[in-house]
Formats: sequence, C-alpha cells, structure tokens
Amino acid sequence: MPSDSLARIHAGQDFVRGITSGFLHVDSDGLDELIDDALGRLGDHLAVDRAYLFLVEDERLFNTHEWCASGVAPEIDRNQDVSMDLVAAWIEPLRRGDPVAIDDVLALPPSRAAERAHLVPQGIRSLLVVPMLSFGDLVGLVGFDAVRTERRFSRFEVGLLRSLADVITSAVVRRRSDAKAELAERRLAALTRYATDYILIVDDDDLIRFASGSWASIGRSPADLVDTPWRSHVHPDDVVEIERLVEPIPEEWVAEHVVRLPDFRVRTGDGGWRWLSGSISDVRHDGVVDGFVVNAHDVTDRRDVQDQLAHEALHDPLTGLGNRALLTEQLERACRRAGRDRTPVGIVFLDIDRFKLVNDGHGHAVGDEVLVEVGRRLAGVVRTDDVVARFGGDEFVVLLDGFADADEVGRLVARLERALDPPVDAAGNRYRVTASMGVVLAAGDELDPVAMLRDADTAMYRAKENGRGGVVVFDETLRTKVLRRLSLVHRLPQAIEENRIELAFQPIVDVVSGDVLGAEALARWFDVELGAVSPAEFIAISEETGHVVRMTEQVLDGAIAAASRWADHIRVAVNLSLSQLVAPPLLGLVESTLARHGVPAARLCIEVTESSLMHDPGDAARVLGRLRALGVHTALDDFGTGYSSLSLLRELPVDVLKIDRAFIRGVHHDERDRRLVDAVIGLARDFGMTALAEGVELPEQQRALVDAGCTLAQGYLFGRPVPVRDLEAMVAIRAADGQADQPRKPALRSQSAATTSASSSSMS
Ligand code: C2E
Ligand code: MG
Ligand code: MG
Repeated sequence: MPSDSLARIHAGQDFVRGITSGFLHVDSDGLDELIDDALGRLGDHLAVDRAYLFLVEDERLFNTHEWCASGVAPEIDRNQDVSMDLVAAWIEPLRRGDPVAIDDVLALPPSRAAERAHLVPQGIRSLLVVPMLSFGDLVGLVGFDAVRTERRFSRFEVGLLRSLADVITSAVVRRRSDAKAELAERRLAALTRYATDYILIVDDDDLIRFASGSWASIGRSPADLVDTPWRSHVHPDDVVEIERLVEPIPEEWVAEHVVRLPDFRVRTGDGGWRWLSGSISDVRHDGVVDGFVVNAHDVTDRRDVQDQLAHEALHDPLTGLGNRALLTEQLERACRRAGRDRTPVGIVFLDIDRFKLVNDGHGHAVGDEVLVEVGRRLAGVVRTDDVVARFGGDEFVVLLDGFADADEVGRLVARLERALDPPVDAAGNRYRVTASMGVVLAAGDELDPVAMLRDADTAMYRAKENGRGGVVVFDETLRTKVLRRLSLVHRLPQAIEENRIELAFQPIVDVVSGDVLGAEALARWFDVELGAVSPAEFIAISEETGHVVRMTEQVLDGAIAAASRWADHIRVAVNLSLSQLVAPPLLGLVESTLARHGVPAARLCIEVTESSLMHDPGDAARVLGRLRALGVHTALDDFGTGYSSLSLLRELPVDVLKIDRAFIRGVHHDERDRRLVDAVIGLARDFGMTALAEGVELPEQQRALVDAGCTLAQGYLFGRPVPVRDLEAMVAIRAADGQADQPRKPALRSQSAATTSASSSSMS
C-alpha cells in the first residue's frame, strides 16, 4: 500500500474518530444535529454530492437527514415513505452487512427499471449505501450520491462510511430504546396515578418502596409512604390477619406466588379508615420490582352496605340494642369461652311488669318511648363488656360474659332495678316501670345456651308469679318443677277428656256431736307418670289450658250425683276457683246439674277461697249473690290467709266462714291462735255466718273449738278425704241410713285415719 494512501487512511480514520466521538455522549435532543453535522463533514471531506441517512420503519424508508454539496438540489422530500421494493436489489446485501454501490445508475439493467426510475430524477449518477444493523435488524442506511459525474467509491470511502454508519446506528438505537423506555415509564406512571387501584411495592424488610399516585386520592402522599413500614398504615386488627396469610410465603421466591388478601383497613389522610381488598404478589427477585407487589382496590362502600345490613340483622331498630339473634350469637360464644377459659356466664332476663297496660291504655307510641328509655337505662348501668339486648316485646336480656362471684351479679341486678326506679316520662305522662327478672348463672364445659335462656325465662316467670319487680335466681329444683309443670300441661287435658279426674269426699261434722252434716268434694288426679298431683297444681293448669269449664262440669256432676244418694240434711261442698266461678256457664251449669240429679239447691255449698275473692271482689261477689239467690250455700274457704277487709267481708254473700287450718293447728295450746279463732268465730256470728274449722286433727283441738263456740269442723280427726263408697261405708250419710231407723254412726277416728287420701273413686 503506497505511503500517501496510508497517510490518507490514517487521516481519514482520525477524521471519522473526531466526528464519531461526539456520538458517545450525545443525548437524544442533540443527536439530529450531530448526524447532520457528521454527514456534512464527511461528505465535504470526501467531496460527494449528497450524504444522507434513511431509517427503516415497517418495511418503508424515510430519509431523515440529508446533506448536499453546494449547487446540488436536496431530494429529502421525495424520499419519504419509500417502499423498500423500489430498491429491492439492495436489501439482501444490506441485511448481510454488505455495502451497495452503483457506479452508473443509467446502466442499471431493465430488471431494476423501477429503481432506476426512482434514482434518475434525483440526478443520481452513482451511489454508495451501507447498512445500519442492530442485532441483525436493518434499521436504516447511510449513503453518498454522486450527481455531477459518475463515481466509483473506493474501499477506503466505504470504510469511512461504515464507521460513521456504525456510530450513528448505535446512537439511533439507543435513542429509540430510551424513547421506548421513557414511554413505558410514563405510561406506567400515568397508569398508577390514574388507576383507582392502590399499588405498593414492599421489600423484604416490610418497608414500602413504591406507592402509586392513587394513594393521593385518600389523602396519603405516595412520597410520604415510601420508606415507612406497611404495618403502620394498616388497622392493627387487620395486620394480624394479613400476617397469617403472608407468613406461609416461602423464603425462596416462588414465581407468580399470589395471595389474596382479606379485606383490610388503611389509614386515610384525615385519620379515618378505608377498606381495601386485593392481593399480594411475590416479585422479590425479578430484577426490576424486587419486592412484594400489593394491588388493592377500595371496597369501603361495599363494606358499609354489608355492615349496615349486618347491623340491621343483629339490632333492634327501636332501641338500637342488640336483638335476639345478636344475643344468641354472643351467648353461644360466651358458652364456648366458658368451657375454654373457665369463666362463668350469667344471664339476667327482664320482663317489664304489666307493659300491656301501657301499650293498650296509652298507645303503642307511648309504649315504644318507654321501651327505648328502659333500654337506654339498662345499657347505662351494665359493665362495659356486658351485652344488653332486646329479646322481644317488653323483654330484655343482659348477658354477663364472665363475673367474679355471685355478689358481682347481685350488685348488677340491684343497679338494673335502681335504673328503673325513676318514673319514665313519655308523651307528657310519667310511668312507673318495674321489671321481673330471672337470673341464671352457669359455669362449666358444656354450657347449653338454649337451656340457659329457657331457664332464665322460667325464673323470670317465677319472679312474676311472686309479684311485681321480683328477682328469681334459677336453680335445679326450679328446673325440676318446670319439667313437671310442662308434662302436667301436656297430660292434664287428656286426663280431663278421659274423665280421669276423680273426687274424694271429706266429711264435715257438727263439732260438738261429731254428726256428719256434709262432705267436701276434693278433686284428685293420679297420673301413672307423675303420681298424685295436687288439685292446687292441676286446677291452675286447667285454667291456663282452657280445660277449666270441662273440669267444673265433671266436679259438679260427680259431687251432686253423690249427694243425690245422701240423706236430705247432708250437704255437699264443691270448691271453685275464681275463674271457675266467674265463667259465664256456671249458674246455668249449677242449675242444670242439680235438676238432672233431683238435688235441691240448698244441699249444695260452693266454696271460694278468700284469697281468690280478694283479687276481684266485684264479679265474684255478684256470682255468689246469684248462687245464693238460687238457694245454694256459699262458703269462704281458707279464711284468715287472704287479708279480707272487714267491711268487704260484711258485704259478701257468704254463709260459711272456713277458718284456715293454720289457725286451728295451735288453737288448743297457743293463746294467740285461740284468741284469733275466738275473734273469727265472733265475727262470723256477727255477720250471720256459720264458722267451720278446717284441719282438725286432735281431740284437744276439737275441745278448744267447742269451747270457742265453733259450729262445724272438718279434718283428719273426723275423716280423711276418701272415695265416695268408702265414705258411705264409714259414716251414716246415705238416704237409706235414715236417722229414725238406726242411730247415726259416729265419725270413726281409727277408721278414717287408716284410710289414705290417695285412694279415690271415679267421678263418673
Ligand atoms: P281446701 O278446699 O281448703 O281443702 C282442704 C284441703 O285440706 C284438702 O287438701 C284436704 O285434703 C286437706 N285436709 C283436710 N283435713 C285435713 C287435716 O286434718 N290435716 C291436713 N293437713 N290437711 C287436711 P287437698 O285435697 O289437697 O286440696 C287442696 C286444695 O285444692 C283445696 O283446699 C281446694 O282449695 C283445692 N281444690 C280441691 N278440689 C278442688 C276442685 O274441685 N276445684 C277447685 N277449684 N279447687 C279444688
Ligand atoms: Mg275447700
Ligand atoms: Mg280450705
């Protein structure tokens, strides 16, 4: 190689190096200018007519830069969006990395006519183009034109052009990828800013590395979130839940490990909370994110609706207290915890006394006001963790989930009572409110919430029976009683239907002579399962179950049928409860039964207890008056236990005053009892009534009664209640026994004592 050409080569290389060094550090904005400059300097240096750059996009060529020697016309406008087919012959060598040179455009063969037709109008005589290749991709080409004369480009010139093409290529490609990257980044930023999703990247140390712009919408600046621990922004209750889910994510990154998060609350800028729902993806080792990506969206509205629905389902709209469903749920939970933590559970079941009077008398609006106030007061005095629920109607339940001892419960009950003390103001009136309370306290492994509620309810009913404002604590005996009562309620109606209620008769005697003057019919029920059931028990139940009328019919019929066989002076006494007495069919029933058995009214005595009369003196007295008008005798039973007022007693249409056996018991030795019995007998005499002593068991008692001037007596001393046949066998009572024919049998003490009251005869 000749030395001058070597020198030329070196100079040329230095020249190109000078041009290209600028490309190393150029930024995207300066690149176009630099390309123009480089093309111009090299073109000038090599004395070509045009130097230019085409970029390839979608198989089409775009002339982006052009330098022209002076006097040479620019062709850049013609060369936009040129199909590569026009220069089809170039493409293959260019893709291979080879230059393409055309020494004489006019000499191009006919097969390249289109190419020629494109080049000739630009005045091109010769040209040289070299490829811009990036990873095998033809991204463009750089070239020279010779316009004024034909020209053969030397290898040296080709080399220079290639060098320039290479630096331009890498700069252009870099700019392209920069632009792409920037676009991608801007897109991402926009996405995360305008996305409604809340995105976080959290690193292995639980610090937030990135927060999307969306956080600003809930008042959290994304910049402030960065570098803080995620936990500090999540509700403490929810942190636990999230940790429980995230902990199983293995130390080692698992590709595409995505865990759905439970709904969780995040702090808002104004100190409130919003509910989010979303997922967490493990992207710790992808070299880009390098952390956990949390992607969540706001579900506060949905939660609000859900909460609202849940609240409505579990709360009483009137008082705002928990309802039965909530109480049941909490009680079940308390019972489970009682087994686990050995804490006792208590229930106070409250029922407002006579609330129906308020409701019926003053209207439901007033009733509602009272309920709201009661609920408010109860809730105001319980302990913080106790639940007060409205169980239904006028019933409230306080649930004590754990307490130290019975005293603590006692104090609470006292507070509940006191809370109701001040009258309730409603609609301009003041109402005195009391409540009956049933208390159940329980501890142990297998507490039964349903049974607890039932027992509390039972105890509450007991409290009601004891009078208003009472408190009853449930215990096992109460449960036994309740079970017995339940089966009574179940079995009694059938017993009545099947005429299995029987009558026992107890003689009533002249206390001086011991002569039998009558017999009291006492109802008896012997049940195969329950044994002997006392009339005090089953008569109340017959009233509750609506079988009382049927029962009255049977008792009257049995008693009067027996009397029909007895001597004329023997009277039969029948007990009637208040409800039996005031039931409309009674008078007609008495008349028709007497008539059916041909027994005169005067031989029937109806006994009514003093205590039942006191409940409702008006109606009962009226019926007694009518009975008397029919000729029936009347007796006031159990006198002395019912607190009759003397003035009332004077008014009562009653023939016989039966002195309760409680006073007879001590009449022979207790001075006070004796004086009391004296007084009652005097009273009876003053009011024109006959005194009858009940429960006479001892001759001493009988003597004391004779001394006191008592007329009639009844008791085990003269005869126990026995079946009618036994009675008839024992004493001269039957019509055929006739006084004149044979002496009246005395009441035989030994015989009557030997007969048990459990034996009985059928009423029918
Ligand atoms: P009562 O009318 O005062 O009946 C007297 C009760 O005292 C009877 O109890 C009788 O067995 C018992 N008695 C009689 N003499 C003595 C005695 O010397 N010592 C003792 N310790 N007790 C004696 P019973 O049969 O259990 O009846 C209880 C109550 O049930 C009756 O009290 C009455 O109020 C009511 N009763 C009974 N039968 C009927 C009925 O058919 N209808 C209604 N409504 N009540 C009835
Ligand atoms: Mg009686
Ligand atoms: Mg009595």
